[in-house]
Amino acid sequence: MQNTEEIWRLVDTRKAAFEQMSDRIWGMPEIAYTETKSCAEHTAMLEQEGFRVTRDVAGIPTAVMGEAGEGGPVIAILGEYDALPGLSQEAGVPEQRPLPGNGYGHGCGHNLLGSASLLAAAAVKDYLAAHGIKGRVRYYGCPAEEGGAAKGFMVRAGVFKDVDIAISWHPAAFAGVNEAKSLANMRVDFSFAGRASHAAAAPHLGRSALDAVELMNVGVNYMREHMPSDARIHYALLDAGGIAPNVVQAHAKVRYLIRARNLPELNRLVERVKKVADGAALMTETRVTSKVVSAVSNLLPNAPLERAMHDSLMRLGPPPFDDTDRAFAAQIQATLSEEDIESAFRRVGLPMQSGLTLCDGIVPLDSKTAPMMGSTDVGDVSWVVPTVQARGATYAIGTPGHSWQLTAQGKMPAAHKGMVHVAKVMAGTAIDAIRDETLVARAKADHQARVRDTPYVCPLPPDVEPPIEMSKAA
Ligand SMILES: [Zn+2]
Repeated sequence: MQNTEEIWRLVDTRKAAFEQMSDRIWGMPEIAYTETKSCAEHTAMLEQEGFRVTRDVAGIPTAVMGEAGEGGPVIAILGEYDALPGLSQEAGVPEQRPLPGNGYGHGCGHNLLGSASLLAAAAVKDYLAAHGIKGRVRYYGCPAEEGGAAKGFMVRAGVFKDVDIAISWHPAAFAGVNEAKSLANMRVDFSFAGRASHAAAAPHLGRSALDAVELMNVGVNYMREHMPSDARIHYALLDAGGIAPNVVQAHAKVRYLIRARNLPELNRLVERVKKVADGAALMTETRVTSKVVSAVSNLLPNAPLERAMHDSLMRLGPPPFDDTDRAFAAQIQATLSEEDIESAFRRVGLPMQSGLTLCDGIVPLDSKTAPMMGSTDVGDVSWVVPTVQARGATYAIGTPGHSWQLTAQGKMPAAHKGMVHVAKVMAGTAIDAIRDETLVARAKADHQARVRDTPYVCPLPPDVEPPIEMSKAA
């Protein structure tokens, strides 16, 4: 459909305010479920734009939703605003320079993510009003993407129940449609309980929970050879049993993050890891209990929406980077390895082009990409609503995710251009879906075909709640 110039203009007219909002959120990095100030920024912008605002979405204080329009299809545009620990970094400098403070930083570009999504939703709102078109646009401000699985809790609470399609994006090196491949994952805490004792005088009376954790890790590391090659298992020690080597450690806790291609594979793998934990407890005469902390589903593709978004991108063309943007991107690239840069091209299925610092095209829809081995809580939304995501080109090619280099680029003119560009892509896709009702119907048919044999089962156990006490403490 050729209706996009007007929607692009509606994005452009308000872009300055959203670039400033993104910069403010960059400057107040808040981690999972503590995004009080960032969520307040989004709420204030929703109110200023005249959206009907719902706070505490799904009972989460840092989740917000704004709706505009009447009747018609419901188009959701999803945003995020959480930061990461350990990625504090001064903006606009090509060397590692953490800022004083708590060490948090926007190392995944979610300051841009939420701002571009809300920008797109605001433009769609005005377009619907200007043309008297029946249809509703909703902006969902989603917290805690990084390890918090907030969208899974939001899905479980039914907040997407009446949504027809969902649109989102993620900052990236290249512009294109995000290939819907990600891993389902589950975080499980294993707590071992033993018996304390004097480690020298009475070692035979002690039973070490720390030994149990070590043996569990050894067991899981041996298991790696015998699991699907695209599964992933990582662990972090939450409690090593104390600081005294002369006390047999009576308690120890390890957090496992287990990832697999889909939920059935994930569940099988989790059961195997639990058996290894039981084995470690048996060997050490300790007791083990496990608790799921969070879980997300893999992403489901949607062919009609991906095609529509790609068409929207092709009409728009690549982001308008200039020589100053490229010069800074080259300075960032100088801090990266050849392998970083090569793998960025490989990830989107493009041949390596040395000297290319910023995206100058659109990744073809049929590009043979290397599948994303991470996870996202957008996965759960994609199981209940036809969902499509863009990649927005906002940083130098080769910048690793979750790196100081990514934080450093989050306020640059290139980042602003990339976020405005992707807002146009998302708004254009939303307008296409509202104007062409066959697109929503085709998206739904595609979705139903994908879930027919394996209906969605929420991977979050019913007794697991979002850890919102973190937001109260913040
Ligand atoms: Zn991210």
